[in-house]
Amino acid sequence: MAITESMRERVAAMARELAAEWGEVDESEALSWLDAIESRAIEISDALQTELVRQKGVRPAGADEAICPECGRQGRYQGQRQRELVGRRGPVAIAEPEYFCPGCRKAFFPVDQVDRC
Ligand SMILES: [Zn+2]
Repeated sequence: MAITESMRERVAAMARELAAEWGEVDESEALSWLDAIESRAIEISDALQTELVRQKGVRPAGADEAICPECGRQGRYQGQRQRELVGRRGPVAIAEPEYFCPGCRKAFFPVDQVDRC
């Protein structure tokens, strides 16, 4: 999904606010003036990416039970589990529904099977 014009306008508004809050560019510890700006922009971009993943990375709980991919028995919903994945820009945290299979005596995550399709 490409970002919409509306999203682009809000990003521009947020950039204006952050640039104003930022104040003068301090290039004393950067390779150049441009490097100083880009380094700060990358930090902000990474923070935005982390926040978007945190907000959109919550997989809704499904049914009370799900089929175990190992043995085919019904597993019981245990709650949402936090998991850290390695995204394009580093570690990100997501939440996903966890089930427990009484036959295999271990947890499984139906979302993992969906993602592989
Ligand atoms: Zn099982």
